[in-house]
Amino acid sequence: MPPPTPICPKCGYDQSGTIATWTDRCPLQGTCPECGYILSWPDVANPSRIHHRWFVEHATSKRQLLRRTLPTLWFLLLPNRYWHRVTMESPRSIKRYFLSLTLLMLFLHSFTTAALFASNFAYHYQTNATINQRLSTLPVAQQQQFARLLTDVSSSDYLIPIIGESFLVPLIFRDNFSEGIASGIFGVALVCLGISIMWMLLYCAFPVTRKITKLRMVHVSRAMIVAGFAPMLVIEFARLLEAVHYASIYSNFMTQISMLIYPMIFIGVLSMLVWTQWFWIAATKIGWQIKAKWWELVLVTTASFLGMPIAGLIMLAFKPVRAAVEHFAYWVGI
Ligand SMILES: [Zn+2]
Repeated sequence: MPPPTPICPKCGYDQSGTIATWTDRCPLQGTCPECGYILSWPDVANPSRIHHRWFVEHATSKRQLLRRTLPTLWFLLLPNRYWHRVTMESPRSIKRYFLSLTLLMLFLHSFTTAALFASNFAYHYQTNATINQRLSTLPVAQQQQFARLLTDVSSSDYLIPIIGESFLVPLIFRDNFSEGIASGIFGVALVCLGISIMWMLLYCAFPVTRKITKLRMVHVSRAMIVAGFAPMLVIEFARLLEAVHYASIYSNFMTQISMLIYPMIFIGVLSMLVWTQWFWIAATKIGWQIKAKWWELVLVTTASFLGMPIAGLIMLAFKPVRAAVEHFAYWVGI
């Protein structure tokens, strides 16, 4: 098999011509004649030599993928740190990124499902105990009447709907956990996705920006996926807050904690929006080395908020999915 054509990682310009001019020695660094990107020749010739031990996209086994998920998120948390390391020469695998994010989400989802179920179960368990205590003091005739207030927490009539709802919040709405925290954060996560899609459109849709930046669109679409889906993890945090809110009905300790819920939501929403914008600015300045002026960045950042209607469209497109989940939930008795 012939060796792959050495190309500029930023603009895709074929570097064979430059390499052909080397006669007695090979330089370590060079500049792409097309876009001005400072190339590291050993990395251009052999991208697989770049291997980050913390990066899920460089994982070679399932075990590595699992072990690297949290370190990758840790680097992603501060986008500058991430983009200093994930250079354009680095080999990428968005499939592995997506897989690690999905597995982490599933793990967190089982944890938050347990938390939501526990908060509801503890409420009924405690209420049953209080009712039972009162019952013993009542005359027999009244006992039967009040016994109807007890919830049989071991029956499938209670367990199936509540486990199902704990699993499906915020995709379905029932009487429990209806504070709307998870559903609101889901909306904000979609807004973040809309902003990332808008950044991608601003990069890809205009021939002028494409000509100025000279950036291969594969970098932009990868960044869209990385930045667009990471905020979805916050939904699990919101589900946990929903469990805390429910538990605050009967637990004094949880009532104290629940006072932090709304400040936490505010900080969470702000962090999601700031992080998304920061990710794209760091990608532009650090990752892709685009010499943009500060006011150009302010302009693009402002324009990216036009992604909010895109979020609305995604939500609209998501409606049939929600309806199908609701239908399925009724069908299985949730
Ligand atoms: Zn180039």
